Amino acid sequence: MGAPAFDEVLQATPPRFSADEAVEIAARTFGVSPTGARNLGSERDQTFMLEGADGSFAVLKVSNAVEDAAMLDMEASAAQHARRVDPGLPIALPWPVPGAADDADDPVAYRASLEVGEHEHFVRMYDVLPGTAGVDPTTLSDAAIAGWGETTARLGRALRGFFHPRAERTMLWDPQHALRTRPLLDDVPDPTHRELALRVLDRFEAAVAPIWPELRAQVVHGDLTVDNALVDADGTITGITDFGDMSHSALAIDIASIVDSLVAGREADEVFRLTRLILDGYQRVTPLEPLELALVGELVAARCAVTIAITSWRAARGLDDAGYVERYCASVARTIQAILDAGWEEAARRLTGSPDAGGDLAARRTRVFGPAMEPLTYAHPITMTSARGVWMTDTDGRTYLDAYNNVPSVGHSHPRVAEAIARQSRSLNTNMRYLHAAAIELAERLVATCPPALDTVLFVNSGSEANDAAWRMAVAATGHDGGLCTAMAYHGITHAVSALSPELTTGPGVPEHIETWEPPDTYRGLHGDPSVFAAALERLAARGHGPAAAIMDGVLTSDGFFDPDPELVQTWVRMTREAGGLWIADEVQGGHGRTGEAMWSFQRYGIEPDFVTLGKPMGNGHPVAAVITRREIAERFARETVFFSTFGGNPVSAVAALAVLDVLEDERVLPRVVEAGEALRGAIRDVAEQHPAIGDVRGVGLANGIEVVTDPSTKEPDPARTSAVKDGLRERGVLVGTTGRRDNVLKVRPPLAFTTAEVPVFAAALEEAIGATKA
Ligand code: PMP
Repeated sequence: MGAPAFDEVLQATPPRFSADEAVEIAARTFGVSPTGARNLGSERDQTFMLEGADGSFAVLKVSNAVEDAAMLDMEASAAQHARRVDPGLPIALPWPVPGAADDADDPVAYRASLEVGEHEHFVRMYDVLPGTAGVDPTTLSDAAIAGWGETTARLGRALRGFFHPRAERTMLWDPQHALRTRPLLDDVPDPTHRELALRVLDRFEAAVAPIWPELRAQVVHGDLTVDNALVDADGTITGITDFGDMSHSALAIDIASIVDSLVAGREADEVFRLTRLILDGYQRVTPLEPLELALVGELVAARCAVTIAITSWRAARGLDDAGYVERYCASVARTIQAILDAGWEEAARRLTGSPDAGGDLAARRTRVFGPAMEPLTYAHPITMTSARGVWMTDTDGRTYLDAYNNVPSVGHSHPRVAEAIARQSRSLNTNMRYLHAAAIELAERLVATCPPALDTVLFVNSGSEANDAAWRMAVAATGHDGGLCTAMAYHGITHAVSALSPELTTGPGVPEHIETWEPPDTYRGLHGDPSVFAAALERLAARGHGPAAAIMDGVLTSDGFFDPDPELVQTWVRMTREAGGLWIADEVQGGHGRTGEAMWSFQRYGIEPDFVTLGKPMGNGHPVAAVITRREIAERFARETVFFSTFGGNPVSAVAALAVLDVLEDERVLPRVVEAGEALRGAIRDVAEQHPAIGDVRGVGLANGIEVVTDPSTKEPDPARTSAVKDGLRERGVLVGTTGRRDNVLKVRPPLAFTTAEVPVFAAALEEAIGATKA
């Protein structure tokens, strides 16, 4: 076959000057007087170490006769640019030619011209850097491997702002042009190697080439292999010597080239562990984008395939030593084989260290979590892969409208929160025993949203812990040990607050120091009288317990989203205080703007609680929670104990929570919630007109319940149909849950990113789902 269309230099024999000639060339072009020269070998050009009386003092490069001068100028400019951006990078810099132009930025000043017969060679001289060249990569420590990744990232960062028109070239070693090496594979002597390379190129053509333009691109070095780096005794890079392979390409090809080089000679399976170490080092400097990470396996394999193609093609033409090429190809073929053996997806997972999604996840879940773990939500469980805003996507690529999850309140994967978490965890995550601004600012801003007396904040990690801390403080402050909660309340999992969570009690019910009261059933006109609460207090007193606290979820989620009158709630608070107890406003559900009418749901009732507990939406999915109380209560608690939670108030959690507060303001979330909630209830009521099974539609903001009954005249709950509608909605791509004493209330509690735009989608699915179920 003829010469493929690529860089001529790869197809031409490098120059063949002798050591004596090199000495003479150095003297003629740069005015130095070496005592000798040592040929260092090179694929493109000829490189000599020049020796003087005091040892090696410079590196002489004589370029290939077909080399393009502009390419050399680009190399000189790039090296200088990178060194200016990151002076700590040990880059070998070219010497100016004596008598050349004064302008240090003019790359022409760094090359001399040498005419030999009809050929012109360019001659360049470089500083000698310390360290050993051509280190055996199997001798590198893990730390050195990761360090190599870090230096590669620094070099990429240093070249980020560099451009040169010649960077737009077909540098065949660059996996960008992998498919052009297909014809070269005819020269691969080993059919197994050829077959492996072909499989990689097929994959590249199908999976990588179409999305290549989406990869971050810039001028990259492209070849920081053991051949182009000097290292010290620890394996740390002390010299970066050759910019000859640079081109404008995907940033991630730098990683492919170093993986290819550093895994040589190791057990094939080591490619996974070593790549993870390289990525660790790389991402200390430059975090990779998801697509770059997803394609690491393909890029590494492509670079290996390209290696097989180019070296075999050159060997066939006598440009490289056949025995050396054979050994080199065997090594990269092993890397390809390891990746193919794993399979592309599994390889991507192992190269980047992602969780193992293989096998039957539901079975694995049951096996490892056991029976106490809450079951999966749907008859046909969903395996989710990603989510954005109010839309979630499963492993089959199906999208679901999320009308259920209140935790990602400002929207799934909100970039403000995600970036805040990522940035902070890259720089510092520690605990509250050190000073750090994030938790302090967060506490100040939370306090500013509350009535003035609520001036003291403790950070914890979950709603349960927030309620637990409030409970402990209430017990300490009142000297009482009794508690009150609503009949179907849920307040968490600790020993103290699981007692206040009758919803989940499967055993003997609430313990003897706890009493429950029925919140008003506004649909059936029941329990609206203050005597219901008074009776609960009396039952508690009769058993010898004064109330330490009454606790209430301001939107009564697990009781079925009833909306009590403010005066009634005020009466409950007053009665609690008259009995010597305190009031805990559990804002884990109703807070952070869920009602749209106020930041905290207790504000709608015109009450001043003694504790406000926060959780779920506070970090948009990141675990962070808090209890806000009055100073004197905290002081009373402090007489008994010091409060410290290892993770509570850590900077990562705190910046997540700050980002949520910012987004609530910036996106004017609260008025949007009011509007979306009204539109949603209106649309559901329209559906209910045709479907009498919908007995009641109620709620505030985006905390809503749809009560399903057998017959609106009897208002008899229909939990079976409620569950069928929930599954029917899931089949139609809409996610809701169920709640309420009889589990006959559809829980419609979407992320607050839910807007009027999603209302018709929800209503259409509900219409179908309810129509498809039978009474
Ligand atoms: N309080 C309420 C009202 C809740 O809904 C929940 C959780 N569903 C909790 C407390 C407990 O929060 P966590 O699961 O974060 O411990």
